[in-house]
Amino acid sequence: MRTIVPCNGCTGCCWHGAALHPEKGDDPAKYDAVWQELDQRFALRQRDDGACIYLGKHGCTIYDRAPYICRIWDCREYVKSLDDHAQQFIRDPQVAAGLRLLSNPAQKGTSP
Ligand code: SF4
Ligand code: SF4
Repeated sequence: MRTIVPCNGCTGCCWHGAALHPEKGDDPAKYDAVWQELDQRFALRQRDDGACIYLGKHGCTIYDRAPYICRIWDCREYVKSLDDHAQQFIRDPQVAAGLRLLSNPAQKGTSP
């Protein structure tokens, strides 16, 4: 099962150490994964710049076997779950641009 999201080049989800979910079928042995002591779970290894080890120049390099969370996450549903004030805040174009920069520090940006 996969949720189709029109990400259009956004890789915001790929900079946070995607958690593996064995209860949903993820097998940590089949990924370059590390044990996170704090969260008591496996997550995909991150490069030194914070990106997922599987993030390539043109997006996910393991698209067809990406773990559960990568297949089902839909940021639009997350935004819908926020209250009106929070939705208004993150829809502000300047805030949205800042959030994109925060989630992907490799992107070029300009200071205010
Ligand atoms: S934040 Fe949304 S648009 Fe960006 S990669 Fe994740 S699901 Fe796709
Ligand atoms: S496996 Fe693919 S979709 Fe999932 S975080 Fe890594 S690069 Fe992104």
